[in-house]
Amino acid sequence: MGAQRTTSGRDTVAAHRWELVDFLGGRCACSLNGGCWHDGPCDVDDARCLQIDHIHGGGTQDIRDKGSSYQMIQYYMNHFAEAVEKLQVLCANCNWVKRDRNGEHAAGMKRRATNNELR
Ligand SMILES: [Zn+2]
Ligand SMILES: [Zn+2]
Repeated sequence: MGAQRTTSGRDTVAAHRWELVDFLGGRCACSLNGGCWHDGPCDVDDARCLQIDHIHGGGTQDIRDKGSSYQMIQYYMNHFAEAVEKLQVLCANCNWVKRDRNGEHAAGMKRRATNNELR
């Protein structure tokens, strides 16, 4: 309170990200019933837990194409119809569950032991 607000670049990025999250509904869009960490629709709407997710994947490539995650957010702020098509808001938990289900991160793969290895 009373402290002067510094306008660092980080603040600006966060503000824009939250604005885009708000545009996209402002709450977790996951409606998986079963197969996720929650029962029924996920109702997380705390902006600190929400992330912008590429519905069909390819987020890393998209950031690369746009230049940076900040530039990507700015792009979608100006191309909202495209944003609605490609992006959704997920909370951090659902995002990880989705990545795991889609195999978007190979590190999560577990090696399955076969019966042949048992003697
Ligand atoms: Zn969620
Ligand atoms: Zn979920």
